[in-house]
Amino acid sequence: MYPFSTIAALGADLRAGKTSSVALTEQAIAAIAAKKHLNAFLEVFETSALAQARQVDGKIKAGTAGRLAGVIVGLKDNICYQAHKVSASSKILEGFESLYSSTVVERLLAEDAIIIGRLNCDEFAMGSSNENSAFGRVLNPLDERTVPGGSSGGSAVAVAAGLCHATFGSDTGGSIRQPASFTGTVGFKPTYGRVSRWGLIAYASSFDQIGPITHNVADAALLMEVIAGPDEHDTTASQKPVGHYTGSLSAKKTYRIAYLKDCINAEGLDPEVKQKTLETIERLKAAGHTVEGADFPYLDYLVPTYYVLTTAEASSNLSRFDGVHFGYRSPNATDLESTYKKTRSEGFGKEVKRRIMLGTFVLSAGYYDAYYSKAQKVRQLLRRKTEEILQSYDFIITPSTPGTAFEFGKNSADPIKMYLEDIFTVQANIVGIPAISVPNGTHSNGLPVGLQLMGRPFDEENLFCLASQVTLS
Ligand code: GLN
Repeated sequence: MYPFSTIAALGADLRAGKTSSVALTEQAIAAIAAKKHLNAFLEVFETSALAQARQVDGKIKAGTAGRLAGVIVGLKDNICYQAHKVSASSKILEGFESLYSSTVVERLLAEDAIIIGRLNCDEFAMGSSNENSAFGRVLNPLDERTVPGGSSGGSAVAVAAGLCHATFGSDTGGSIRQPASFTGTVGFKPTYGRVSRWGLIAYASSFDQIGPITHNVADAALLMEVIAGPDEHDTTASQKPVGHYTGSLSAKKTYRIAYLKDCINAEGLDPEVKQKTLETIERLKAAGHTVEGADFPYLDYLVPTYYVLTTAEASSNLSRFDGVHFGYRSPNATDLESTYKKTRSEGFGKEVKRRIMLGTFVLSAGYYDAYYSKAQKVRQLLRRKTEEILQSYDFIITPSTPGTAFEFGKNSADPIKMYLEDIFTVQANIVGIPAISVPNGTHSNGLPVGLQLMGRPFDEENLFCLASQVTLS
């Protein structure tokens, strides 16, 4: 692969004629084939990517190329791209082709990015290890015995293994940040409503956001400038103007930062992950930031609240996969009811079925108040407490995950153990605030450790500024 540092540097090389978009695309296709065993890609869009690359080379010559000219980008398999397959890594969407492109894809294409293919993930973005894909597990290139994280595992691996310049994932409870943390990449979850969800296959609509996984913070900032902003197709996309994220990167601002004492002292936090977090806190203090401990006594409520509300939303969102409208239809069906039952029984995997049943249960007449309404109230409480901390502090800092990438099968037998992997990441989705995972050194087991920064709603600009200080210091 042509050497890569940042998207901006690559753009300069392309304009100077040192390489071409076609050459970069061909190299990416070869690199993906050479790393096929990682199983990061479900499909390479070879023909459309090369056709696009030829056009982009013409634009580069004419001086009319966009900000992402030639940048090789991969999409999680739940982001729609017109006339290309999309399956959410599920058998139930077998053979389905997108009828339209997501807003994110349209904005990437408008800036001349090259969309190279679709990336493996947990089925319908439900999982923390990529072990729930109907198309097999994805290997972590840093240690192939370990998971890459999930659900955007293929997206993280494509960046970590050097197969893409950047990729996109979706984050409902940590699915961008946790795999980024497990693979030593940068993962960004925008404020809820900062990026349009049009053309994203919904998991839990009041939590989902699309965001980038990149080699560095500067690229994440640039990609966010491109994809963020109002969209007439998504009424939850905010009208607020998009900040100048790339411009904020070199500012040397000092901030007030809170670390959550309850997170740092959490049972189950790997001692070395804790140590690395504390060391970074000391470095931030030495660089002039104020970092203080804050109380967040609700840590134990985060994961249950997340799983009650997201499964409820999922049970509704996934009802559209009925064997009539999309993809797979059971060949064993004899009438309408058996079409629904057999298609859904055969088409969905085990974890997706578990969540649909759980979500249907918490929404059912007898249990609605006890579970769903209660979880909504707890969401409000968690929101208020987090906002209170963010009134006194610009940011909240935590480890991204309690440990490093774990071995395949380690959490598979116990869903609760798997769900607890999300303990630090779900808060940002419950509350709707922006969050980033950046690499924070290496564990003695040789695997990367991640650090998470959460900011105020729509304060992406300062979040990128602090994140770039953390990664440069
Ligand atoms: N691991 C979490 C879950 O299983 C997060 C998933 C996500 O963010 N899409 O739900």
